[in-house]
Amino acid sequence: MAERYDVIIIGSGAGGGTLAHTLAPSGKRILLLERGNYLYREIENWNPDEVFVEGRYISPDTWYDADGKAFQPQVHYFVGGATKMYGAALYRLRPQDFGELEHVDGVSPAWPLSYDDLEPWYTKAEWLYQVHGNHGEDPTEGPWSRQYPWPAVSHEPRLEQLSDDLRSAGYHPFHAPCGILLDEADRAKSTCVRCAWCDGYPCMVHAKSDADVIAVRPIVDNPNVTLLVEAEVTRLETDPTGRSITSVVVQRGGQQEVYDADVVALSAGAANSAKILLSSANDKHPNGLANGSDQVGRNYMFHNCKAAVALAKEPNETVFQKTLGVNDFYFGVDGYEFPVGNLQMVGKSNASAMKGEEPKLTKLAPRWSLERVAKHAVDFWLTTEDLPVADNRVTVDRHGSVRLAYTATNDQEAERLYHEFKQLLNKVGMASHHVLDKNFYMDMNIPVAGCAHQAGTCRFGADPATSVLDVNCKAHELDNLYVVDTSFFPSIGAVNPALTAMANAIRVGEHLTGAMG
Ligand SMILES: Cc1cc2nc3c(=O)[nH]c(=O)nc-3n(C[C@H](O)[C@H](O)[C@H](O)COP(=O)(O)OP(=O)(O)OC[C@H]3O[C@@H](n4cnc5c(N)ncnc54)[C@H](O)[C@@H]3O)c2cc1C
Repeated sequence: MAERYDVIIIGSGAGGGTLAHTLAPSGKRILLLERGNYLYREIENWNPDEVFVEGRYISPDTWYDADGKAFQPQVHYFVGGATKMYGAALYRLRPQDFGELEHVDGVSPAWPLSYDDLEPWYTKAEWLYQVHGNHGEDPTEGPWSRQYPWPAVSHEPRLEQLSDDLRSAGYHPFHAPCGILLDEADRAKSTCVRCAWCDGYPCMVHAKSDADVIAVRPIVDNPNVTLLVEAEVTRLETDPTGRSITSVVVQRGGQQEVYDADVVALSAGAANSAKILLSSANDKHPNGLANGSDQVGRNYMFHNCKAAVALAKEPNETVFQKTLGVNDFYFGVDGYEFPVGNLQMVGKSNASAMKGEEPKLTKLAPRWSLERVAKHAVDFWLTTEDLPVADNRVTVDRHGSVRLAYTATNDQEAERLYHEFKQLLNKVGMASHHVLDKNFYMDMNIPVAGCAHQAGTCRFGADPATSVLDVNCKAHELDNLYVVDTSFFPSIGAVNPALTAMANAIRVGEHLTGAMG
């Protein structure tokens, strides 16, 4: 007989790990199923050659684009999921992101709850994930009920200068919210050594607020929590009525195992959660579980992003660069009526990362020349919202592989952001003609492979005809299936998605705790 749990959570990343952490004190028997293993602490964690050139931590999965062309998606299967590699820029969406927003290519739809509804859980997520920041600096942010638990991470001198220059030029730079375990007031107590190996690297000293360190490790020794690693969920099975999940089918150590639970929470990442639901079709759900609306897998989003390197005359000695953001263009600019996006800093360039990002372009470049370029680099990350489009979708082919069809939206807005960025550079003493494109953690050569910010394949909403999940992230068509990764996003805004997934997972966890009694 299959082992029975109160709750099975599939995936231990931002959504699943945070949900497990929220549910653990309830005493309910929880099984956390994670496809990957712990990411080993090893010297290679901080080796840019290993991380960027060899792609040491990227899954060997093969997915296919709409034309059937194979690609290696930038997904990471570890305890903690994509947060093991993330830059820990933990932004809230803006209040307007929860309503309808008119974009150049269409309307970004409203969420079934408002910013004010989610605010208490944003605060809880910021405290759980030890976010550093200063609410009140960014003119576009919404109201907050509690200040961040830690003061903003201080700028290093080059960034302080950039911040001053931006202010003098009329912009409103702010300290970016960072989830790191840094105590600047008492370095002896600080886990974080403020190194350059944060954005895109696993943290060897466990000083990044990822879901493994913050959410999963603190609960795995609880007697009511069981974590199985290298346990890939392949299928969910229902009772004969099709209303309840009865079993979760897992591949582990070359064997098939089956686990039962009263409640199942899927959080395998937007593409893989859709894959699991679509692969679980049965008589009652012929198009895949919870897919009577034909919405599972659709509306895939991952931001219209660009990384750019400005080459300044003076060297940039910054080590930890992700301390600054600019949202002056978020909702539009003079002479342009549509939202434009967010500008933030990204991890500092180094020669190896450049080789990894642009292997063809840098093939003949001697290492010393790349090192010189990297020394003068000031690295920016530009994010424009992309829209949920029905044909941007995950399907599963007859061999069980993910097929991902994606066409970008809002290119004009992204171009406008780039234009504004170049204007900004001219105003702060960095000539706009000295800008290189940089493919950092999203591989722009194969746009569809850069799925770091994937979201939206099981959106939540009030109407079962147009959404997969209800407002509590329970599947409309099943009584005990929840989805808590970024799949639930009806739109993605133009800031990084992880904090919203974490806040929502705490919200759903508290709802479940109440519902289970
Ligand atoms: C390099 C990089 C940098 C990033 N930087 C930022 C940033 O600075 N700020 C930000 O907000 N976001 C950032 N992100 C994005 C952020 O990490 C994701 O939005 C977030 O982790 C998504 O959470 P999730 O729960 O949806 O998925 P994940 O965190 O990816 O978790 C999914 C989990 O499910 C597991 N899984 C998959 N399939 C199965 C299966 N079949 N069975 C069992 N388990 C399965 C996976 O192994 C994984 O652990 C970054 C991502 C990357 C890759």
